[in-house]
Amino acid sequence: MSVDEQSTMETVFKALAHPVRLAILDILRNGEACVCHLETALQQRQAYISQQLAVLREANLIDIRRDGLNKFYFVTRTELFEVIDRVRAFVGSEANAVPPSYFVDKCPCPHCATLREINRESPLAVTSQD
Ligand SMILES: [Zn+2]
Repeated sequence: MSVDEQSTMETVFKALAHPVRLAILDILRNGEACVCHLETALQQRQAYISQQLAVLREANLIDIRRDGLNKFYFVTRTELFEVIDRVRAFVGSEANAVPPSYFVDKCPCPHCATLREINRESPLAVTSQD
């Protein structure tokens, strides 16, 4: 293993070794999310969330999609979820599943606003963001 590969491994493992960053990644399983969505879901300050997102981004685990004034974070390679699931299984920990529409009612983000709008029109149509 080259020095570069070794250092990439360390960066990835360090990025994953944090409960809030794992929680962020669990939310991103349901698709891209903006900081305000993560803020609502995790009940943490925006500055703190941004700090954790920066670590994940530096490890190349997530990237940003810009849409007008909004910035949406997404996982660059979905194999990452397999890695997390395997480590969880390895330590005998339950998957920390986040129900996709759990906090839709309270969230100010554009995705949740759209979901609320669709829900209003036909209340049973939308149960997830997929
Ligand atoms: Zn939202």
